[in-house]
Amino acid sequence: MAGIYIHIPFCKQACYYCDFHFSTSVKYKGDMLAALQNEIALQKAYLNGKTIQTIYFGGGTPSLLSSDEINGLINTITLHHTVASDAEITLEANPDDLDDQKVKQLKQTAVNRFSIGIQSFFDDDLLWMNRAHRSSEAEASVKRVQDAGFENITADLIYGYPLLTDQKWKHNLEQIFALSIPHVSAYAMTVEPQTALASFIKKKVYAPMNESQSAEQFVVLMDDMQKHGYEQYEISNFCTPGNYSRHNSNYWKGVKYLGIGPSAHSFNGNTRQWNVANNAKYIQTLTLNNIPAEIEELTEQNRLNEYIMTSLRTAWGLNLDQLNAISKGSAAQLLKETGEHFEKGWIQQKDLIITLTNAGKLYADKIAADLFF
Ligand code: SF4
Repeated sequence: MAGIYIHIPFCKQACYYCDFHFSTSVKYKGDMLAALQNEIALQKAYLNGKTIQTIYFGGGTPSLLSSDEINGLINTITLHHTVASDAEITLEANPDDLDDQKVKQLKQTAVNRFSIGIQSFFDDDLLWMNRAHRSSEAEASVKRVQDAGFENITADLIYGYPLLTDQKWKHNLEQIFALSIPHVSAYAMTVEPQTALASFIKKKVYAPMNESQSAEQFVVLMDDMQKHGYEQYEISNFCTPGNYSRHNSNYWKGVKYLGIGPSAHSFNGNTRQWNVANNAKYIQTLTLNNIPAEIEELTEQNRLNEYIMTSLRTAWGLNLDQLNAISKGSAAQLLKETGEHFEKGWIQQKDLIITLTNAGKLYADKIAADLFF
């Protein structure tokens, strides 16, 4: 079992908060697609012939690609890798790209899951973020995709920014329920260095984020999702029964994956590698049939800490046997450090599984860091 991620590094405009790798110029789109195809072929041995269960087009904005371009990439993957007949194939899409014609064209591809970047149903919020779409487009795009017969949809939402009152946040969640969207990824707004948002805050043009507002809205999110029958299977991810993201779940379960494209990461069980985050360098290196990646061998400590970090964020939790399988005796050592977290009611244990409580989910990063080896 394995997955493939393809990074499409182009966007119509730069959202103020975003620090992903992308370019707003599509001048080299043709060269980029050729380089992506070449990398897929060159990396055909990376996953040791494992069957591909999931393909994920992320970015950037993959919905800027035409259906022919998407089909071209999927065909190349199928040529060089074994793809399961029921593979989950996700396309990240922005609402403004999903017009009637585009959705019809996408029906002609093997894409069977959409991740729609809604972020908010309020136009003033979208303008504040410098998103390319408006609220009416968000709603219309979801309905259009559903009418075309795609049921497997996820929406991205952001909370914890000054413009978003608790009332607006509740409204955004209500819209998700009204539209029957079966999966939601909701993230707290973070201010990454080198973004326009960071610079606006520094210049006092934008108000800074407020941690307690963010924490309160996270609690509202957990409560409302639960009331509407969604399972919080990862701290930021919620779904109605059975509608997990197979691709992301596999990341969290340590399944191997191959990342294609500039800035994409790969993991084969023993090493992690990441491609250069520069379109020109990426294309240039692939023209010479080389992979522009840095590689890191994972030490036992890396593996333990990664497992702690990711497993604690999920509903499946941290399995003490699995920890011992990475390093003998590590479970006993970890349990010695958990006293304070049990006392505070942040973690709970059932047999060999440790999970975060709802109170603990507010401190997930701190708890993981406390338990690191
Ligand atoms: S569309 Fe997505 S990747 Fe592009 S700038 Fe906005 S948040 Fe970043």
